[in-house]
Amino acid sequence: MLAKNKENKKVKIDKNSIMFTFWKYFSVFTVFILLLLWLLQIVFLNRFYESMKIHEVTKIGDYLRGEFQNKNFEKQILNYSQKKGMSIEVIDSTGHLIYPLTWIDVLVNPKVMDQDTFNDFFAGVKNGKKDSRVFITRFQNLENPSIVYAGYLGRDSGIKHYILIKTALEPVDSTTDILKKMLMIVSIMSLIFGLILSYYFSKRLSKPLVEMSRTAKQLGSGDYSVHFKHVDYTEIDDLSKTLNYATNELTKTIEVRKDLIANVSHDLKTPLTVIKSYGEMIRDISGNNEKMRTKHIQTIIDEADRLTELVNDLLDLSKIESSLEEVNFEKIDLGELVQKIISRFERAMPDNSYKFIYEGKGNTIIRADSKRLSQAIYNLINNAINYSKEEKEIKLRVIEENGIVEFSCIDNGIGIAQDEIDNIWERFYRVSANHSRPTVGTGLGLYIVKNIFEMHNFEYGVESELGKGSRFYFKTEAVK
Ligand code: ADP
Repeated sequence: MLAKNKENKKVKIDKNSIMFTFWKYFSVFTVFILLLLWLLQIVFLNRFYESMKIHEVTKIGDYLRGEFQNKNFEKQILNYSQKKGMSIEVIDSTGHLIYPLTWIDVLVNPKVMDQDTFNDFFAGVKNGKKDSRVFITRFQNLENPSIVYAGYLGRDSGIKHYILIKTALEPVDSTTDILKKMLMIVSIMSLIFGLILSYYFSKRLSKPLVEMSRTAKQLGSGDYSVHFKHVDYTEIDDLSKTLNYATNELTKTIEVRKDLIANVSHDLKTPLTVIKSYGEMIRDISGNNEKMRTKHIQTIIDEADRLTELVNDLLDLSKIESSLEEVNFEKIDLGELVQKIISRFERAMPDNSYKFIYEGKGNTIIRADSKRLSQAIYNLINNAINYSKEEKEIKLRVIEENGIVEFSCIDNGIGIAQDEIDNIWERFYRVSANHSRPTVGTGLGLYIVKNIFEMHNFEYGVESELGKGSRFYFKTEAVK
């Protein structure tokens, strides 16, 4: 039972968690550093010590060879042999020991190196091929190997003299043993330390993330009032800011969607109600009265037109907003395009109820998506007509000056009040005074225009005076 309980409580390690990853990398790093230490300290310690010693002996040997003729020569040899614990001897070419000499050596038993040993030591040096040689050898009476420096000193009283330096290579095993133990302790300690550190760091790092994830879940469940908190780490704080921005945008989109549905359903319902009631009126009242019937049918046709206009605008809007169609930039002559649109309007209004004046100047070739730009210009002219008073004169100007082409759509209509002017580009915005019951427009026209200008990066705007008229414009660079 107990065992079973234990089994159930077994802690599951999430291998993708920040903590585990942290610990993993930290451990790999620690192991790598320790391996490096082990390798350097234990494997290479011997070699390193050897080469250091060889270097030292060579340096001393070379130095002493240079000092041979100097009167301090013997003092220097004594000095080095004492200081560095080296055996330094001077031998002549017959194998006789010249330095260091005791009185026994001189009087009783002069030390002579046998020829074979001499040749062994001074191989290559004796025949003058090189000045010195350094090698490692084992002497019978010594436990450890020694480094030997054998060099040619020069002639003294016609006899060749040689120098022989011997120094024992101390065993590094005991040092290595101590190091091994120390490294073992360091290894265990660093792994434990790494574990604790990685646990601490990962906890600190993951805490804000866990909190953010909780907030995001709240957001996902529809609570748009959430706020992602400030975090001390720059990267995570950036994420928090981005999420706050996304939440804001999401809230706006949801608001807009609500507005859109409310507006669209209202705008669809009104003409449908009118159509239905006028249909009923024709059926019940005016069916036999030709004059009234024609009037009522005309109302139905007008409302149906309004519905078509609304549906078309909505389709344009959704196309623009979802960026389904790519912007197709090409070189177009804006002057020509505007004139074409004017003739379209003139054909649609054959009774000459509106007067269009076109004014063009300079090179009016620009880069634009002609289909979309036509739609924007069409919307502007349509508004100029809709919001005109009695004098129905609309001026369209395409002027190039200093490489900048400016389009203007000028009307002498009702104008726009200054406090309304910033709002007219908004979706579904209609100046209240103009519409007790809106008979024209959907409130989408200028929003579509704005989107088209913005996707072209055009500078655009409106100047207007209430009761006098308006000028809608955009500017862009002329191209050759
Ligand atoms: P609508 O379909 O109602 O015309 P728009 O987005 O095209 O919608 O225009 C928004 C509002 O801006 C209009 O309802 C109107 O009040 C005002 N407006 C637009 N163009 C003009 C203009 N040329 N003169 C005066 N008012 C205008």
